Amino acid sequence: MKKLQGVLILIAIAAAIIIKILFGIFTLLIDNIIPLSILLGSAIILYLLYLLYVNTYFNSEKFGVIKAGITNHIENCNELNHYIEELKGSYLNITTYNYGRGEMLDKSRYNFRRKEWKRNKGSTQVYQCSASICKNANNQPMKYLCKYFSINKNEDSLSNFEKVLNDFTSVEQGKKLISNERKSILTEISTEIPYLIKRFNSEKLIQKLGFETIDISDTYFPSFTFQYVSPGGNSSSQCVIRLDIENLNHLIKYLNDEIKWKKSIAAQRALMTSNLRNEIKERDNYQCCSCNNGLDKEPNLLLEIDHIIPLSKGGKTTYDNLQTLCWKCNRTKGAKILIENEI
Ligand SMILES: [Zn+2]
Repeated sequence: MKKLQGVLILIAIAAAIIIKILFGIFTLLIDNIIPLSILLGSAIILYLLYLLYVNTYFNSEKFGVIKAGITNHIENCNELNHYIEELKGSYLNITTYNYGRGEMLDKSRYNFRRKEWKRNKGSTQVYQCSASICKNANNQPMKYLCKYFSINKNEDSLSNFEKVLNDFTSVEQGKKLISNERKSILTEISTEIPYLIKRFNSEKLIQKLGFETIDISDTYFPSFTFQYVSPGGNSSSQCVIRLDIENLNHLIKYLNDEIKWKKSIAAQRALMTSNLRNEIKERDNYQCCSCNNGLDKEPNLLLEIDHIIPLSKGGKTTYDNLQTLCWKCNRTKGAKILIENEI
């Protein structure tokens, strides 16, 4: 009986302590809730006022004047951006030949754990192969790429990939040049833009000035996959070959080595690699051979290498037949040749 009394007393004390604590928290809240809400409320009001300020600023006449002053530069940037987006499709242009499509069904009885197979169904850039082919592809990528993805080892194919390398290099350079140009435009107007806008709304500023988004990802490089999946699906390996600038250079050298050249042509022909591009630009003093605009006048100018007599008209990749053009002149020339060819 005494024991029970003791327990009851203990419970009562514990309950009293808990009630005391809860009440303490409650009064603490009551005491602080008003200052807290005032703090929170004013923060929200400040934030809303800031949003209003930003909105008013971007619609103001002052901002309009700044924007109008640099419209030409911005349009130039956007035009270059469109141009490099076009160039990203360069590889697709040489592989548009349609070979038709069959459908492969997995009819095996123990058809389980074959997710890897299903995932790539319908893609022409994945080759299902044995473990040893997958391993060999890893060791000799260009050889296996040509063999299993039917890339012809002839002069036409070489020229096509040289063009792809040319275009992709322009894309990679173009992306950097647009970013630089954008930075220098922003630096020029920097003193006229309020600090708060620069500090907290730089993205919105870029967008409101009229700059289009630059896609700086390099997912446009085509990639080819060798894939092995064991019959039970428990083991698998992959070899992915990405035709980025470095691998395109490798591919071009590989194709050149494999082509059985007639001696006279081989002696004349230059290989359109990244090195040659740089040599030609240096030879032409980093100036456009058509409009004479150059890096000295416009540091962020995209320069390209052009065949004077185009490949489509029998022109060859030789030093004499190559020249440096700025992207604008090159595009104009390309358009003219397209129209001529259609006529
Ligand atoms: Zn030019």
